[in-house]
Amino acid sequence: MRLENKVALITGASSGIGRETALLFAREGARVVVVDVDDKGGQETVAEIERQQRKAQYVHADVSQASDCEHMVAEAEQRFGKLNVLFNNAGIMHSKDDDAVSTDEKIWDLTMNINAKGVFFGCKYGIPALRRAGGGSIINTASFVALLGAATPQIAYTASKGAVLALTRELAVIHARENIRVNALCPGPLRTELLMKFLDTESKRQRRLVHIPMGRFGEAKEIAQAALFLASDESSYVTGTEFLVDGGIHAAYVTPE
Ligand code: NAD
Repeated sequence: MRLENKVALITGASSGIGRETALLFAREGARVVVVDVDDKGGQETVAEIERQQRKAQYVHADVSQASDCEHMVAEAEQRFGKLNVLFNNAGIMHSKDDDAVSTDEKIWDLTMNINAKGVFFGCKYGIPALRRAGGGSIINTASFVALLGAATPQIAYTASKGAVLALTRELAVIHARENIRVNALCPGPLRTELLMKFLDTESKRQRRLVHIPMGRFGEAKEIAQAALFLASDESSYVTGTEFLVDGGIHAAYVTPE
C-alpha cells in the first residue's frame, strides 16, 4: 500500500475530487480526515471508507475561516496522532463569476476567500503539524485556467487559482529543507458537479470540449490518482511543480518561448 501509516487531511472531501481522493487514500492505507462544509456529503465519504474497514473522521470546517482551519488540523492530530499529507482542495466556482466588468466585488471576495485564503490557512496551520511529524506532502488544487485563459470568463476563479500556484512555488522553496514538499495539482475540465453547474447548457459544454485534445471531460478519479502520487513517497524529489492532469489542453495551447 502506497500510503501505509500516513494520516491525510483532505478539504472539500464531501464531493468530486476530494471524495474520490479520500476513498483512494484510504484504500492505500491512509487514515483520512474528511473536511468540508457539506456535513451530509462528508459523513457519506466517511461511511464509505469505514465500509472498506478503513479509518476516517469527518470535521466540519469552512476553509475561509482561520479558526476552522486551526481546528481541523488539531482534530487530525488528536484523533490520529499526526499529520503527513495535507490536500488543500476545497474550492468554488460561482455561477455569477464573469469578466472583470460584470463580476460583483462580493463574488470576487467570496471566491478569493475560499480558493486562495483557504489554501493559505490550510498551510498556516498544517505546516507546523507536518513539521511535528518530521515532514510531509502538501498538495494544493489549482487549475489549468491559472496557466491559460479560459474561453468562458470566470475572472475571480482564474485569479484565485493563479494565487494558489504562486504561493505553492514559494512555500515549496521555503520548506524544501524541512522535508516538506508542496505541489500544485492542475486539473483540466472535469465532469464534476462544480464544472457541470457552471457549463449548464450543451452549447457551453461543447465550447469547452472543442479545446480538449482528448475530446472528453476528465473524471475526479483520474485526479485522485495524481494526488496519490504527490502524497506518496514515490514523488520524494518532486516539489514546487504545477502537476497538470488535463487531457492535453495545456499542450495544445501553450506557445513555445
Ligand atoms: P466539487 O464542487 O465536487 O467539490 C468541492 C467541495 O468543496 C464540495 O464538497 C464543497 O462543499 C467544498 N467546499 C466549498 N466551499 C468550502 C469551504 N468554504 N470550506 C470547506 N469546503 C468547501 O468540485 P471539484 O470539481 O471536486 O473541485 C475540487 C477542486 O478542484 C476545487 O478547488 C476546484 O476549483 C478544482 N478544480 C476543479 C475542476 C473541474 O473541472 N471540476 C477543474 C480544475 C480545478
